[in-house]
Amino acid sequence: MTSPARPRSARPARPKGQGQWALGYSEPLNANERMKKDQGGLEVRDRILNRYPYTGFDSIDPQDLRGRFRWWGLYTQRKPGIDGGRTAILEPEEIEDSYFMQRIRLDGGRMTSDQLRVIGDISTRYGRDVADVTDRQNIQLHWIRIEDVPAIWGALEANGMTTQESCGDTPRVMLGCPLAGVDGDEIIDATPVIDETVRRFVGDPSLANLPRKFKSAMSGCADHCTLHEINDIAFVGVVHPELGAGYDLWVGGGLSTNPKLGVRLGTFVTPERVAEVWHGVAQLFRDYGYRRMRTRARLKFLVADMGVEWVRATLEKEYLEAPLPDGPPPAPPRSEGRDHVGAHRQADGNFAVGFAPRAGRLTGTTLTAVANLADQYGQGRIRATTSQKLVILDVTEADVPALEAALAELDLVVRPSVFRRGTMACTGIEFCKLAIVETKANAAKLIEELERRLPDFDEPIGINVNGCPNACARFQVADIGLKGSLVPGPAGEMVEGFQLHLGGHLGGRSRLGRKSRGLKITSDELVDYVVGLLKAYQADRAVGEAFADW
Ligand code: SF4
Repeated sequence: MTSPARPRSARPARPKGQGQWALGYSEPLNANERMKKDQGGLEVRDRILNRYPYTGFDSIDPQDLRGRFRWWGLYTQRKPGIDGGRTAILEPEEIEDSYFMQRIRLDGGRMTSDQLRVIGDISTRYGRDVADVTDRQNIQLHWIRIEDVPAIWGALEANGMTTQESCGDTPRVMLGCPLAGVDGDEIIDATPVIDETVRRFVGDPSLANLPRKFKSAMSGCADHCTLHEINDIAFVGVVHPELGAGYDLWVGGGLSTNPKLGVRLGTFVTPERVAEVWHGVAQLFRDYGYRRMRTRARLKFLVADMGVEWVRATLEKEYLEAPLPDGPPPAPPRSEGRDHVGAHRQADGNFAVGFAPRAGRLTGTTLTAVANLADQYGQGRIRATTSQKLVILDVTEADVPALEAALAELDLVVRPSVFRRGTMACTGIEFCKLAIVETKANAAKLIEELERRLPDFDEPIGINVNGCPNACARFQVADIGLKGSLVPGPAGEMVEGFQLHLGGHLGGRSRLGRKSRGLKITSDELVDYVVGLLKAYQADRAVGEAFADW
């Protein structure tokens, strides 16, 4: 994607009254801003460790419970049995359970086998043996009690992990390629710049009150697997003709209810300056981002309103030590597949073995078994991908078949069907308070039925199942995007179902899916509808025509 053609002399009007700190709006304009001004989210840590576990769930200050706890990756779960029709009419405290979801950030998706065993143990011991690999390379646990959080954090932190800023209006987990440092085709290994940025800025109090979440990606992956188009900020590996390997800077991507693809600033960033430039953009967002309405607080709105020239000029003038040189755009992706599933030869001759659970759902017991396999067949290095998959690195060619068989025993598939490979699902109504629709079980059933009824279908196909319009599983950029909604049922009553978005794509020709206004199906109709749609595509497609182009 190229920069929009805005004349150099154009001076975009600054939207007034949007709560931008840099324009003098220091008074909080909504309850979230008030909460953050009253006390920063990071400061709740001591109460989480030393007060609430002993005084109990009911003693938790509501501002902490529904606000600051997120700065440490803790969200209250949805009470079981509250259907999607009641999501919009009940107050949060009527929906929430006294259990938490706990998100563990894994920057770059990196874990050692020891770390994964710790996560698996926490899941089995404290989280009813449920664990989800998310599409942002986190692992999310459920059923966590406040009384158990000190022990959980103690185990994580003793093993070099943290939940800090895995949620909240903060710099969230930094995406990186799971094959960083081992893939022979990568443009540059982004591991050092991720590590430096995390070390310097995650937990920095001056960046812990951003207008909204701030999603980052840093990668030299030849497949563009970190989805630079839909992050608030992304550094994409490129080779500058004179300056060598470095990064192309993108800003302003994001999905949710107003999806926007990111735009290039047209700059080249050397590895030495990545942390400085990331910091500059984060500060620009903090100072100029909109704080009046949560629905317009992401960086994408500022970028869309002000344009890339303003963003670049402001970044360079107000936040960087020196201007950035112009730079080239990224080369097209090596392939349209971005999930690193399958056995792929590393630069050192060993193999990276990527495998697919069902829509990201695992158990702690399975995670522990995966950690053990990474020790047995690899060198204890495991990666999470941005498509709810896992990868074990450093497997000898001779050991790949044995590892594949051992993973299959765990229902983890190295050569999955296109349906298991391409289907993702967000948390959904099982645990998420915002959900309207069940997702994980619907996705698992969909995979099973598609495998049974379309055994010959071999075209890569992305099916992203979301429980509400917030798009945590990226319905707008899937071949078949499913947005959880209430839809008319057979007798005219409103029931759980999905609004269809078709033809979305990230890759060589990134685009958002087309929303078909009349295309709404109930959850009960989901399987038959998708089967019919894919059969029609099979019968109708021209030679070589991808689903997204059909
Ligand atoms: Fe929850 Fe909606 Fe996000 Fe799914 S998309 S996890 S239902 S907020």
